[in-house]
Amino acid sequence: MSKILIVEDEEKIARFVELELTHEGYEVDKAVDGREGLEMAEENEYDLILLDIMLPKLNGMEVLRRLRKTSQLPVILLTARDAVMDKVTGLDAGADDYITKPFSIEELLARIRLALRKRQANAMPLLSCGDLVMDIARHTVSYKGENIELTGREFSLLQTLLENQSIVLSRDILMERVWGYDYMGETNLVDVYIRYLRSKIDDRFKTKFIHTIRGVGYTLKLEDENA
Ligand code: CA
Repeated sequence: MSKILIVEDEEKIARFVELELTHEGYEVDKAVDGREGLEMAEENEYDLILLDIMLPKLNGMEVLRRLRKTSQLPVILLTARDAVMDKVTGLDAGADDYITKPFSIEELLARIRLALRKRQANAMPLLSCGDLVMDIARHTVSYKGENIELTGREFSLLQTLLENQSIVLSRDILMERVWGYDYMGETNLVDVYIRYLRSKIDDRFKTKFIHTIRGVGYTLKLEDENA
C-alpha cells in the first residue's frame, strides 16, 4: 500500500483529498503547514507527497527545495489557478508534476498513479552481463544497443540466468523459477528454451553468454570468465 503525505493548509481540500485517497486504498498523513510537512517528510517513509505551494510558515517551493537536497521522493505540487510562474519554478525545483486547483479527484488520482509508476520504473535495476542488458521495467533486452525480441518465457528464463550470473542452475531449478512449482511438464522444456535464447543471442551476435554444464545445467557468464 502506498503512503501519501498531503501538505495543505486548506482544511476542506485536505480532508476531501484524504477521504478520496483513503477510499482508493492509500495510506494518508496530513500536515497543515510547510514546516510540519518538511519534518514529516524527513521523519517518515512516504511514496509520494502532495504539496500545496501557498502554505504558512514555509511555502511549498521552499519545502521542495529543502526536500530535494536529500530525497528524490515524487512530489506533485498543488498550484493556484493560472499561476504559471509557480509551475515553471516548481518543475525547475524538482517537482515531478503539478495540478491546478480546483482539480477533479479523477485527475489527481491519475497523476498520482503516473508518478508512482514512474518511481517504480526508476527503482527497477538494469540487469547486465557485459554488453547484454535487460531493462526489467521496460521489458527490453539488448546487445550493444541492438534490440533482442524475446517471448515472455524467454525473457524470464534470461532474467533468471542474469540474476544468477556465473552460478550453475540445474534444469529443475530453472523449471521451478521460470515455469513455477506446479508445472508438470518435461524438464527438457528448459533445453528447448535455452536453444531459443542461444539462437537469439549467442548465434546472432557470435557471443558466448550461455554455457552448458554437462550433467548439471546452465550458467550465464562473460566469455572471458570461461574456465
Ligand atoms: Ca494553501
